[in-house]
Amino acid sequence: MLITKPKDSREIESYFEKRVFVFKCYGCREVYFPEQEINKFVEERAKSISGIAEVDYLCNESFSKIYIEKNAHVIRNSDVIVVFSCGVGSQVISKLMENNIVVPGCDTCYLNGFQGLTVLDCDCNQCGECYLNYTGGICPITSCAKNLLNGPCGGAKNNKCEVNPEVDCGWIAIYERLMKINKEKILVENKIFVRNFEKIIKGK
Ligand code: SF4
Ligand code: SF4
Repeated sequence: MLITKPKDSREIESYFEKRVFVFKCYGCREVYFPEQEINKFVEERAKSISGIAEVDYLCNESFSKIYIEKNAHVIRNSDVIVVFSCGVGSQVISKLMENNIVVPGCDTCYLNGFQGLTVLDCDCNQCGECYLNYTGGICPITSCAKNLLNGPCGGAKNNKCEVNPEVDCGWIAIYERLMKINKEKILVENKIFVRNFEKIIKGK
């Protein structure tokens, strides 16, 4: 159960200059999902929308696979997939569609207290400003032992993390994913900014 807020429209507006397929996840609606704001944002850009899938629990890979298959014909004719969900949902869609450009429409905010237990490959640290649109849909915070926004650190050996050689280096995975979608230049375009830790501490 996570809470989200829509991204600043200036950050994602350029995606809507192309054909966009939208995923909306209602799984955590009871906690908080900014449904009205997102619907308004999407409706105002209706001309760019090729299709919309409204799903409960995008974080459930089996559900998500079914929705992707169901909409495959529309998705094929879309340039970008925008996912309005928490960071886990965006990562799952990105993982299942690794040859597509998949970007988050929301930031995931810090939520205090017990949030349930899940066994998921993808994790979100609720950092308050989602970077998945710059990292090929792989979370740099949870996939890197040092939570780097400008990795790799240079210590990886045979694609394994220097902190834990049992684990793949998240930043090599990010680079490889970006190569697949011809977006690796993002890494030298200075898109990733200094992390605002205040957003986590205060849950802004
Ligand atoms: S960058 Fe990672 S930790 Fe931050 S909101 Fe996105 S998925 Fe969550
Ligand atoms: S080796 Fe990769 S995952 Fe490990 S700390 Fe360095 S950049 Fe992060």
